[in-house]
This record gives sequence, structure tokens and C-alpha cells, in this order.
Amino acid sequence: MTFSKLAQYFEKLEVTSSRLALIDILAELFKSVDVSEISKVIYLISGRIAPFYEPLEIGMAEKSIAGAVAQAYGVARAEVLKEYGLVGDLGLIAKQLNLKSKIQESKLSVAFVFEILTKIAKTTGAGTVGKKQDLLAGLLQKVDPTSAKHLVRIPLSANRLGIGDPTVLDGLAKAKLGDKSNRKLLEAAYNKTSDLGLIAETLFKGGLKALSKMDVSLGRPIRSQLTERLPNAKKILEKFDGEVHTQQKFDGFRTQLHKDGDSVRIFSRNLEETTPMFPELVEGVRKQVKARTAILDAEALAFNPQSEEFLPFQETTKRRRKYNIKEMAVKLPLKAFVFDVMYLNGKSLTDLPLRARMEKLKKVIKGEKVLIAQPGEFVKSEDRIIELFDDAITKGLEGLVCKRPDSKYEAGARNFNWVKLKRHSAGELRDTIDCVILGYIFGRGKRSQFGAGSLLVGVYDSGKDEFVTISKIGTGLTDKEWKEIHRRADKIKVARRPARVNSLLTPSVWIEPKIVIEVLADEITRSPVHTAGKKGSEPGYALRFPRLVKFREADKKAEDSTTVKELIKMYSQQFKK
Ligand code: ATP
Repeated sequence: MTFSKLAQYFEKLEVTSSRLALIDILAELFKSVDVSEISKVIYLISGRIAPFYEPLEIGMAEKSIAGAVAQAYGVARAEVLKEYGLVGDLGLIAKQLNLKSKIQESKLSVAFVFEILTKIAKTTGAGTVGKKQDLLAGLLQKVDPTSAKHLVRIPLSANRLGIGDPTVLDGLAKAKLGDKSNRKLLEAAYNKTSDLGLIAETLFKGGLKALSKMDVSLGRPIRSQLTERLPNAKKILEKFDGEVHTQQKFDGFRTQLHKDGDSVRIFSRNLEETTPMFPELVEGVRKQVKARTAILDAEALAFNPQSEEFLPFQETTKRRRKYNIKEMAVKLPLKAFVFDVMYLNGKSLTDLPLRARMEKLKKVIKGEKVLIAQPGEFVKSEDRIIELFDDAITKGLEGLVCKRPDSKYEAGARNFNWVKLKRHSAGELRDTIDCVILGYIFGRGKRSQFGAGSLLVGVYDSGKDEFVTISKIGTGLTDKEWKEIHRRADKIKVARRPARVNSLLTPSVWIEPKIVIEVLADEITRSPVHTAGKKGSEPGYALRFPRLVKFREADKKAEDSTTVKELIKMYSQQFKK
């Protein structure tokens, strides 16, 4: 396929806001791509040249991308930057400048463009900035205007297509499976490998049979299994038919540890590679894991070596940084509480029952210096659950995670095989809600100079792959927090409502759904003005007295925010004691 043809598809996708129409266009695109290029097309749709978890970035600053545009079309960089200030979209500027070149439909293949972009990403050493700029300028000279527009947006990480992974999966299902009935197989492969490109390639090459054989593997993060909520020990025992497995619930970072001989990689809850941030965990895995290969699920927590105390999340989160890593690893070392094992010595363990996985876990980790195995306890009485819960609270932990003893490790699932039990006060909402900021509304008065007003926030509707509104949040934010929100939000402002946002309200400024915040509210209520869970003329769901608790974007993608399904469950549970 030519890159020009792909750019024409991008052009169509960009102006489409109906999800069904997006799926149709994607299916048509996938049908016309050859197996040798399908993975590349898939990565480019998300504006990348590798799966999300691979830290391969093109690595060009806005200024040098503008420099490449200027160099390609023979104008001054200052002029390009000035236009950029006015138009706000370098893609459009490149398109405009490229019109003079009179190239109608360039013949460069997707594979060629992809190769050059990869080369740009891998360029290092002396003169990197200039070399990268030359390579991009070279490409820009050879393409037509529409291609130039979309090409420039890739290194900017601003492809503006707004297509989520579930929509890509639907497009693939429609293109290759004819209907949606085998969509589950695609989803399972996705949950186990997190690599949409690899999945598409496997499907194109080996059909459904090959797809159904895809399993977890080293170096590819498994999508984390998540928890449901239940109000008390009694309900949990009932749900689990009389026996539960209990572990303490630690409040730190979800950390997936991959060991392949001496090489160790670490992935976060949102599937980003975080290996360089945590040298002590890498060392811990090397020294304590007694297996050639392994994938472990853990929660990493800051620990005060002097007082031997676990520190709250606010401290742990200081370790998410790119600089002064060594110094911080000494000052605020992490411990990893390993609560599951999904892969061992070349074999996937995800289909083994939890009980058997816990036996393996006990044997695979030696000592407790950095990694601490948490094989948990199997419990049959309500009193014992309460005892363990109180003990956890006393230790400053969040509570318990209760699991079904005979359950498999279900990548990406959130169901009643894992249930969290946290402290609450009766009547109040028992848990916080993770919301995505969708836009902001300017305020009036003195504080408006800080940009204070209110935020329009939403949650994720996983069934529809869209973001729906749930609340406006204004009170409780300090001037400093407003400034911080503006600093983050202004970089992702968009001119129109993004394709995957469904809202009856129009804020002063729309932003791309990217920033996740944790919100505490008194209650979930019904409201006709919000679209969360809204069906026809029935009202949607909303939050009463919402307030910001903390930013969660470091460990959650927008799609990891609370889902409408969870919200409805929390609504139905909120006044049960
Ligand atoms: P919360 O905001 O309550 O931490 P969450 O939205 O991050 O929850 P949940 O699925 O609701 O995610 O809670 C599960 C999280 O708890 C896991 O992602 C993991 O990071 C953490 N956790 C701590 N201890 C355990 C444990 N023993 N087993 C499983 N998960 C644990």
C-alpha cells in the first residue's frame, strides 16, 4: 500500500465522529492492506511505530519538526513557527507548503515510510537533531500534500484520529472475521499480548486458529487482571461459595516483572515500560527469582529503610521520574510485593488455578530483600476475613484483595474472581472514581485569572469505546492545582469535540481525553444532563459533591478510568450496608 493511500484513509477517519462509521472505514482499510504491512498500518493508526509498550519514540521536538518542514519546502523555520503559532497545526502548514510541489499521489510505500521513521527514532549520538531533521525533510519532499499533513503529525504525536484499541479490534473483526462472533478471540489475544500489530499479523497469516493459540510471552506486558467491589466479608464469602483467598491490598504501583535470564523488564499498569526507573527492582528480580524465565505480578511500594515503614502513595509516586534515579532509589527504595505468577520457565501459567499458582509463587522467590512473595491465605470464615482486614488497616494498608481459589489468571478482566475490600464509612460512596478530564469551563471573578472555573469530567464506556460525562468539578481545587491543570491541558486542547467523546454539555475548551484524575464524591445520583449510562430518555449517572483527590495519569490511560459498568454497580451498592 502506498503511504498516500493510507493518508487518504486518515483523512476520512479524521472527519468521522460516528463509531460505526469509523469501524467501517477501518475494515475497508484493513481489507486492502497486505500481510507484510498490516502491523505497520496498525501502529501508524495510533501515531506510533511500535506497540504502545515499546519505548521507541521518534524523539523530535516541535522546533525540529518545524525545522524539517522548513527545510523540505525551502522556507525559513521562523516563518513555519510563526504560522504554527497562528494555525496550531503543523500538519496543515506542511500540507499548504507542499501544494507548490505539485506531487499528485506519491508512490512511497507504507513500509518505506515506516522504515525511515524507525531510522529517525533509532538515530543517536553526535548530531542527532540534524540527522533526524534531514531524514524527515527528505520524506516530506517526496510526498503529496495530504501525506505531508499526516506524516508530520506522527512525530508530533498528534494524529488526531482519536481511535481507541477496541475500535481497531472491531475493524479487524469486520475485515477478517466477517462478523463480531469471534471478536472475543481477538480480545483474548489482545489481553495476553497487548500488541495489536502482532495480533493483526497473526490473524492475516494464520487465521482464527493461529489467533486462538496466542499466549502470554516474555517482553509483552499482559493486561492486568482487575478487581470488583463488594461491601463486606459476608458478601464476599457468599460470592466465593464459602472459601476465599485473601491477600493484603498494597497502595503503590502495579508492577509487572519480566525475567528472561539476566535481562529484566518492568511494565506499569498502563503497559508502559518503566524498567529504567526502578534499578533496585531489576536487581531484586535478578537475585531473588529462582527461575530462568518468569512473569510476575506485583505492587511496588516505597519503604523507609530507617523506620522500616511502608510509605503512602504520595511518597511512592515520587519514584516516577526520569532524572536522579540512582539517588532516589537509595533515598526512597521500593519493595515489590509479588502476588501472582503468570509465566515460569517457558510455560504460561495463566490457565492454572490460583491455588496452584500460589504454590509456584512460594517456591520461586527466595528471601525478602526486595521482592516479597505474597502467597496469601485461604480462608473459610467471616471472622478470619475481618481479622485479616483489620490487621491490614492497622499496618496502614488499604484493605484486602479477595480472590476465587480455583480461578485462572484472566488478563484484562474485571470480574468477581478478584474483589477488593476497602475501608469505608457506611452510607458514603465506598471508593473513589477515576475520571477523565474532557474539557474546562472558564469561571468568573477574581480566581478566573488562574483559569479557575470548572472541569468537565467523564468516565469510559468500554462497550462503546467512548467517553461520557459524569460531572463538573470546581470546588476544592487550589489555585496551584488549577495552574497545574492548565499547564497539562493546554498542550492537548482541540478545536472540536473529540470523536470518542459523547456529551450534551459544551465546555469553553475541549481537550483530548488523556488526563485521569481520582475523584471522591458523596454519592452517585441520576441526572439528565450527563451521558454516563444514559439510555434514550432515561437519565444518566452523575456525582454529588465531587472533589479532586489526585492525578492518576502516570499510571492510568484514559481507557483505564472507571467504566460505566462499574459506576452502575457502585450506584446499586451504595446504600447497602
Ligand atoms: P484503587 O484505586 O482502589 O487502587 P485501581 O483502580 O487502581 O484501584 P482496582 O482494580 O480497583 O484498580 O484495584 C486493584 C489494584 O490494587 C491493582 O491494580 C493493584 O495495583 C493493587 N493491588 C494491591 N495489592 C494487590 C493484591 N494483593 N492483588 C491484586 N492487586 C493488588
